[in-house]
Amino acid sequence: MLHRKEKCPRRCDEVRPMAKIRVERRLRGFICTTAHPVGCARNVEAQIGRARASKFSGPRNALIIGASTGYGLASRIGVAYGAGAGTLGVFYERPADGERTASAGWYNSAAFDLCARRDGLLAENINGDAFSDGTKGKAIALIAEKFKKIDLIIYSLASPRRTDRFGVTHKSALKPIGKPFTGKTISVDRGEVGSVSLEPATEEEIDGTVAVMGGEDWLLWMEALLSAGVLANGARTIAYGYLGPKLTWPIYRDGTIGRAKAHLEETAKKIDGLLKPLDGSARISINKAVVTQASAAIPVVPLYISILFKLMKARGTHEDCLDQMLRLFAGRVYGSNLPVGAVDVEGRLRIDELEMDGDLQNEIERIWPIVTSENLHRLADFDGYRLDFLNLFGFDVGAVDYGEAVEVAVPLKLDGLP
Ligand code: NAD
Repeated sequence: MLHRKEKCPRRCDEVRPMAKIRVERRLRGFICTTAHPVGCARNVEAQIGRARASKFSGPRNALIIGASTGYGLASRIGVAYGAGAGTLGVFYERPADGERTASAGWYNSAAFDLCARRDGLLAENINGDAFSDGTKGKAIALIAEKFKKIDLIIYSLASPRRTDRFGVTHKSALKPIGKPFTGKTISVDRGEVGSVSLEPATEEEIDGTVAVMGGEDWLLWMEALLSAGVLANGARTIAYGYLGPKLTWPIYRDGTIGRAKAHLEETAKKIDGLLKPLDGSARISINKAVVTQASAAIPVVPLYISILFKLMKARGTHEDCLDQMLRLFAGRVYGSNLPVGAVDVEGRLRIDELEMDGDLQNEIERIWPIVTSENLHRLADFDGYRLDFLNLFGFDVGAVDYGEAVEVAVPLKLDGLP
């Protein structure tokens, strides 16, 4: 990232950074530490265009917790532009600070907000820690003032830590349980297939992951919303889970994150009971593996996704976050004729059936042991993975001139302020 400095026009000695800078990507392992405001805005606009084309009858007003990236952002765009819903987005993003760009989720939310207002859709934003009572209180006050009631609550947080209401900070870990794990993985920055070895999680790490990514905080949100009287009759809430194929189980389903997801599922049943008097419901939706900041951090998964993408694209069944969310809302949550298998025996909504197709998974099992750095581009769609990954941060987006200096201090309307 280039940053130029200018002298204060009032001729004082203060040197202040110019807001317009040329933004370059900076990859560090599985994250990018910069984000491009124009690239992020183009991504959001493209998703909006696709959602507009898919009209369905959905919620009136939705609260999306974790609304700035990945599945949460796609949920927000999907219900706003597919069903005309008002949306309150809660997220935890970093604004630009002098020479530092804002985070991608900040730019995404600013772009969404701008479009929604232009298009006459009610949109409010809270940038704060969703795990805190303060953010919950702020959301309730905003709902009461601007939305009156909400009828859809999406819980789509992915976080490495959570400070609970007693001030205790829990950390989540991505580790196997019970025995060590060694498996294949890929470095997202270098595209090299290698091996990863992980020691089994300690009890403390298991408990920490459940405290962060399990259902405790979702339940707190729903109890708070319910007792504040801001839930409409028939209100639904959905949290997202993943099951995936056997080769990801040691690190996912049977690991610390899987334990947290099992807790989330148990919590769905509790919340479902709480919402019965309102004729409402709580569900888990089992989604497909997609490229997001959260999934990039899970060992094994980026390599698995690269192979998956190659096969799904070849079959014409490839889907991204928005495809999944539109299918979830239009075809599962608000649809009348549920397709066979849309709800499984555990009562979970399933939109992972194209990923879990038996023939496709057999083919992945065949490829998995033989994929190497050398044959990666033939056996997997790592280029596609990498492009999606860079796009998450607004890079390599078509029709963006990355040589041009851009305004990085993008404003975002927060907390119901005009
Ligand atoms: P993501 O990293 O793209 O999004 C995480 C969101 O959480 C962001 O909006 C971020 O601002 C917000 N957030 C994080 N900490 C917060 C905090 N303390 N307060 C407020 N907001 C906070 O992640 P994602 O992949 O879209 O994951 C969302 C959910 O979907 C997770 O439950 C994940 O397990 C699930 N899921 C993901 C995949 C996948 O392949 N990515 C597949 C199935 C299910």
